[in-house]
Amino acid sequence: MSEYRVKILNTEFITPDVKRLTVEKPKGYVFTPGQATDVAIDADGLRDQWRPFTFTSLTTSRHLEFIIKIYRDHDGVTKRIGLLHEGDGLILQEPFGTIEYRGPGFFIAGGAGVTPFVAILRDLHHKNAIRGNTLLLTNRMAVDVIMDEEFTKMLGKNFLKIFTRQNVLGFHERRIDRDLLITLVQDFDQHFYVCGPEGFVKDINALLVDLGASAEQLVFER
Ligand SMILES: Cc1cc2nc3c(=O)[nH]c(=O)nc-3n(C[C@H](O)[C@H](O)[C@H](O)COP(=O)(O)OP(=O)(O)OC[C@H]3O[C@@H](n4cnc5c(N)ncnc54)[C@H](O)[C@@H]3O)c2cc1C
Repeated sequence: MSEYRVKILNTEFITPDVKRLTVEKPKGYVFTPGQATDVAIDADGLRDQWRPFTFTSLTTSRHLEFIIKIYRDHDGVTKRIGLLHEGDGLILQEPFGTIEYRGPGFFIAGGAGVTPFVAILRDLHHKNAIRGNTLLLTNRMAVDVIMDEEFTKMLGKNFLKIFTRQNVLGFHERRIDRDLLITLVQDFDQHFYVCGPEGFVKDINALLVDLGASAEQLVFER
């Protein structure tokens, strides 16, 4: 299994607990939109602590980008990533993953689970082929939404936001349930791309199948 040592080129918090890292791209390193890799921090005591993160950059970009939710409430790897800066090192493995674009459809993401869709939608936008796709993103509060402006620019009215905790005028404030899916999706004969916490993916997939989506049209990390 190949390992690649890369330097962090830039870091930036894009919400209170989500950090964007721009890192060097190893020569000849190739991934497809939606793929992830195992990442470790290149520092003593942390080199064997592998955690999966998804590439969010364009495949043609000179650098790699990751968008990472930092869990400060326990002493895991993301808490350490929260403290990293330009010049610090990461170790990457080979890309892997089962989420890939199979055709126009409905993307449903919970929180930081949107990262594979960032790569896919950026790629489609770059190729002028984003038409026919919708993104439904659920977050706790408006402040937790990542890339609000960019998604709005790419998708216009096909970028839908749901908040589970905050009463924001003009936005849906509720959880994704059966009624909401009926209202927002309408056509269940299309591809569905689902990503988020395990329970979220399981629940949404079950609802979609119940509403008429075929299991073959569901794309999610297995
Ligand atoms: C294929 C794949 C791609 C992914 N891509 C991304 C991505 O692009 N961006 C991203 O942000 N995440 C992504 N993730 C999720 C990411 O890998 C995890 O959030 C990360 O591994 C957590 O590492 P950690 O060491 O900080 O937490 P760990 O210690 O590994 O804990 C994992 C989870 O357990 C919970 N937990 C464990 N202990 C505690 C505790 N004491 N208190 C509270 N909670 C606790 C946390 O909620 C956390 O989510 C991806 C996951 C997979 C499987």
